Amino acid sequence: GDPLGVNVRAVALDGGRVAIEATDVTEAHRVARVRRDFVANVSHELKTPVGALQLLAEALLDATDKDPAAAIRFAERIKHESSRLGRLVSELLELSRLQGAEPLPEPEPVDVDKIMAEVLDRTKTPASAKEIEVSFQGVRGLTVYGNENQLVTAVVNLMENAIAYSPESTRVIVTTSASEDGFVEIAVADQGIGIEPRDLDRIFERFYRADRARSRATGGTGLGLAIVKHISTNHGGWVTVTSTVGVGSTFTLRLPSRPTEAALALPPSVEI
Ligand code: ADP
Repeated sequence: GDPLGVNVRAVALDGGRVAIEATDVTEAHRVARVRRDFVANVSHELKTPVGALQLLAEALLDATDKDPAAAIRFAERIKHESSRLGRLVSELLELSRLQGAEPLPEPEPVDVDKIMAEVLDRTKTPASAKEIEVSFQGVRGLTVYGNENQLVTAVVNLMENAIAYSPESTRVIVTTSASEDGFVEIAVADQGIGIEPRDLDRIFERFYRADRARSRATGGTGLGLAIVKHISTNHGGWVTVTSTVGVGSTFTLRLPSRPTEAALALPPSVEI
């Protein structure tokens, strides 16, 4: 944990008396540490691909005359690394927006079928590249309360992971349902590699990846689930996961179907 932080100040009172004023700054220290860690992580995460790009560009220049086949491979890796770097930057911006850098859009009723149509459209290319069959089951005509763009982003992130961490020719099943207590559930189930129990608690942290090498290879940034978590809590909902290694994972978003205090205020969770 964090050390207890106390600021102490002496205040002169009438008659020569002195009062000691102590202010608890533990929370301020924690926020400052989280911010420092975050900046350090971001710098590291940005430096790695930039360094790789420099080396690859040099290798490409070197190989152009001598080994055209190798030059093509270097160019392809430059393409892959630079698109991952681009995604990293846009996800960082997205996360900082979600964390309160910008006012959040006015929440409104959003049609879940519309969200799903958009999600299926945006994920059909990676799904078909791996011959993964995506099916949409469950209740139609549901409504959630919030911001359509953010909700699409959250479900797209879950779908992209389901596809990235699954072998070819498997299935991804999206199920929608309504609970009695006014929540809508959107569950994304895959038949992928699964997640070790020790990683389950941590995968929603920024930059946490169960398998760094695999995440890099799939173009991952380690920010997707942190974004999903922020979107769901900003909406007054939450996200959970169940998983069995070698069998598959199911991520479930629970979102309010009517205005709640949390969704109305859409309070930015200040953490950065
Ligand atoms: P990444 O960009 O690395 O995918 P995320 O924040 O989206 O970052 O996910 C964090 C980590 O959680 C991933 O690196 C991966 O180890 C694990 N993970 C996420 N979704 C799945 C899934 N559907 N199946 C297996 N592992 C997953």
